[in-house]
Amino acid sequence: MQQTDVVIIGAGLSGLVACKHLRAANLECLVFESTDDIGGVWKYRDESNGKGGVMLSTVSTSSKSVNEFSDFPMPDDYPPFQKHSLVLQYLNDYADHFGIRDAIRLNSEIVEATKCDDYWEIHDHHGNGYRSRYLIVCAGLHQFPDKFYQHDERFQASTINMMHSSDYKRLTDEYVGKDILIFGGGETASDIAIELTHVANSVTVSIPHGQWLFPAVTPIHVPTNGSDTSAMVADTFSSRLRRLVDPPFATFENQLDTKAHFTSRTFEKWNGKCGHGIPEWENDAPYYGQFFNKNSNIIQFVHRGQINPKGNIKSVKGDVVRFADDSETRVDLIVFCCGYQTRFPFFRDQSFGCPINDQFKYLLSNEDPTLAFIGFARPLVGSFMGISELQSIYISKLFAQEIDVPDRAYRDKVILEDKVFQELSFSSTTNRIDGLVNFQSYLDELASLAGVRPNYWQLFFSDPVKWYYAVTAAHNSCQFLLHDKKYHDEIFRRYRRYHGGNFRVSSHIYPLIVNLFPAWFRRRQSPFKSVRKVLSFASAYFLIVVFSPVLLFRIIYPLDKRWRLRKRKMMSDNTAAKLLSQVRANGDR
Ligand SMILES: Cc1cc2nc3c(=O)[nH]c(=O)nc-3n(C[C@H](O)[C@H](O)[C@H](O)COP(=O)(O)OP(=O)(O)OC[C@H]3O[C@@H](n4cnc5c(N)ncnc54)[C@H](O)[C@@H]3O)c2cc1C
Repeated sequence: MQQTDVVIIGAGLSGLVACKHLRAANLECLVFESTDDIGGVWKYRDESNGKGGVMLSTVSTSSKSVNEFSDFPMPDDYPPFQKHSLVLQYLNDYADHFGIRDAIRLNSEIVEATKCDDYWEIHDHHGNGYRSRYLIVCAGLHQFPDKFYQHDERFQASTINMMHSSDYKRLTDEYVGKDILIFGGGETASDIAIELTHVANSVTVSIPHGQWLFPAVTPIHVPTNGSDTSAMVADTFSSRLRRLVDPPFATFENQLDTKAHFTSRTFEKWNGKCGHGIPEWENDAPYYGQFFNKNSNIIQFVHRGQINPKGNIKSVKGDVVRFADDSETRVDLIVFCCGYQTRFPFFRDQSFGCPINDQFKYLLSNEDPTLAFIGFARPLVGSFMGISELQSIYISKLFAQEIDVPDRAYRDKVILEDKVFQELSFSSTTNRIDGLVNFQSYLDELASLAGVRPNYWQLFFSDPVKWYYAVTAAHNSCQFLLHDKKYHDEIFRRYRRYHGGNFRVSSHIYPLIVNLFPAWFRRRQSPFKSVRKVLSFASAYFLIVVFSPVLLFRIIYPLDKRWRLRKRKMMSDNTAAKLLSQVRANGDR
């Protein structure tokens, strides 16, 4: 049996970044990949082979600022959102740049993983055996399509053709002239529905529990000298300063009696309830209380009559579908965009792994801390790349014994706290989605555990201009390298790229200014440009002064801190456990 320090299962982006960081921590590792190439879901394949993956037309929904590794920026000429082939190219470049290909074993599916004494024994489908001290599962969330409809009573009397979205790869003749129903409210549902409008006779989209829609690119224009267009990409609306002024925590409003959301109010005022105002797709989830679908282009198709919006499906008889509002539609094909199941068939002991909510920080096995799961925490908005990288940094430090594994009592406590946070914050979604996290808070927590959380106070006192950039720039993983000065040139180059080269005010200020003077900002003539510039700066600094007391209050007494205090109280008087069992009893997990 070949021996190594760490075995990694899967060579998608999580497996690659894990391998890079483990090697940097001087651990020997082997990465096993069942297919013939690296890149996981980003490698386009004509046939799905029963697994999830990109379609021919897939473009990432997370933009470059959140969708790149901290020490390996995407090329400047990449657009803010990339076609799948560019993401795959980037992952290949990453593997070459850090020289990790020699650790990867392609065409090697792991079929068995067993813990024997202090070692993991792993077997691939060729019958080869390996022994390692640590095991990291990077097998991905999109391996096992959830075909719940095969057992759901509502579909038993159906004569309609049914398929899972994982089998939809590209537009072909088989969809021409058909009446097609898409079931689901995520980005894949939007992508497929929009594509099918080109050839289908009719497209209906049934969203069972309602859905928040958010534009990937906002209608707000911000001056920038970077490669991003001047229309503001929603992901870049994520500076620390903005999050301080307008924290993206949904039910904090209910839990902490704060009125936190400038953004949600303005946004719902402009776009309607849940970001679209289409009654059939609305729900009661508060802003940031549910997974966002950022392909909101679908709204236009509804208004143009090319997509019929519907709520949940009540029943299907023959080829007629009845919806929650008792309306009926005849359908030729249903495409189910209802996600995937998380399963790890290679564990002989099936108690390892699921649910992810039961693991420490959705990452480290609580039963056996020599086992980790990278790439299974799901960001509400944000990116898997950002999460998998920081998870890899933390795990490589743990496995290299640079930091201690937290003890069991602490892990149990944190797991319970995280569940409470989830139930309070995302209760309308968590019951259906395992491992849901708030991207930035989760990364900050991991960064603290790994000892790489940036020290902004130190930066403020050593270099206020850099500090200003760092707290007003869009979220980018390079912030977790701030403590190391040798990365500063690259970090601040990147901040300028996403944020403009001048001493600009933060993104949270701009939309407010633009709202105040919409007419001015559309003019192109030079006198208007200069007036606009002066007004822009004057308003910006005026707003900074106006906001200063709010900011100061938020800095001294941040919502995170209030939340932590509340959590601590809930833990100590046992209301956390009671609340959880109450929610579980009422919910449909
Ligand atoms: C259509 C689509 C669009 C997406 N768009 C975005 C986006 O815009 N932004 C974003 O952040 N995320 C997006 N995602 C989510 C996506 O899952 C992540 O971006 C990312 O691919 C996760 O990487 P991973 O390595 O964890 O998993 P994967 O990419 O799924 O890779 C897992 C790898 O493990 C291998 N494997 C599994 N089991 C075994 C085994 N037993 N033995 C050996 N190898 C095994 C698989 O073959 C695969 O190569 C999208 C997903 C899909 C399907």
